[in-house]
Amino acid sequence: MRVVSLGTGDPEVAVVVCIHGDELCGKRALDRFLDADPTVEAPVKFVVANERALDAGSRFVDEDLNRAFPGDPDADTHEGRLAAELLEELAGLRVLDLHSTHSSPEPFALYQRATPGTFHVLARAGVDRAVDISHVPGGLVGYCDGAAVECGLKGSEAAVDAAERILRGFLAGNGVIDAPASLRDPEVFAVTERVEGAGYEFLGENFAAVPPGQPFARRGDEELTRPDCFYPVLMSTDGYDDIVGFAARRVGRLSDLDPDSGR
Ligand SMILES: [Zn+2]
Repeated sequence: MRVVSLGTGDPEVAVVVCIHGDELCGKRALDRFLDADPTVEAPVKFVVANERALDAGSRFVDEDLNRAFPGDPDADTHEGRLAAELLEELAGLRVLDLHSTHSSPEPFALYQRATPGTFHVLARAGVDRAVDISHVPGGLVGYCDGAAVECGLKGSEAAVDAAERILRGFLAGNGVIDAPASLRDPEVFAVTERVEGAGYEFLGENFAAVPPGQPFARRGDEELTRPDCFYPVLMSTDGYDDIVGFAARRVGRLSDLDPDSGR
């Protein structure tokens, strides 16, 4: 783990990159930002999380860090120990955690805690969609206020550009850099279920409603359908080994859900 602090005093916000060592968009965006030798108006902390996985060019070393929280300083796995270390480093801060995905080129946010701190981050995360993924345990944003943002397709230059825009917008929105801050009111979805299965081809489009009975994934002659209308989230052909992705329902706008509406 590498921590870079800018400004003087105690920061209120942090940006985390490389929770997954093979998702480089956040780190490349952060490098661009730091290389420009920025002037900050308020303190901020940046964390490159899983450096060992980054060096190995892999998602993780022993286990998925984003399923390992809260972790334990005496855990048997590298990620179990790192999770505990990270939470200590991020205690009390509002966190933006940058990722990339196989599922959607359009950036979207994931959150687990419906708190004013999390909604504050969601309104400044530069996304038009947010997903309540509290259904899935073990993620960083289940243990601190903040959001994970999927900046775009893994390995794409577009994801790096989006990550830099999102990073700068978040810093501006928190008074860290002097730049225009734009607040958004994302459409919110809530994950209701993991959709199990290996080796399926995903036939639909994420965030586009799938009607009852319509096939949304295929493996050979076998097709997956659901009896209810749902919205696919993080679904892809290649994203996961053991699941197709997640089924979600549409909840409304962030401002409809209150916790002080992030303002
Ligand atoms: Zn990730």
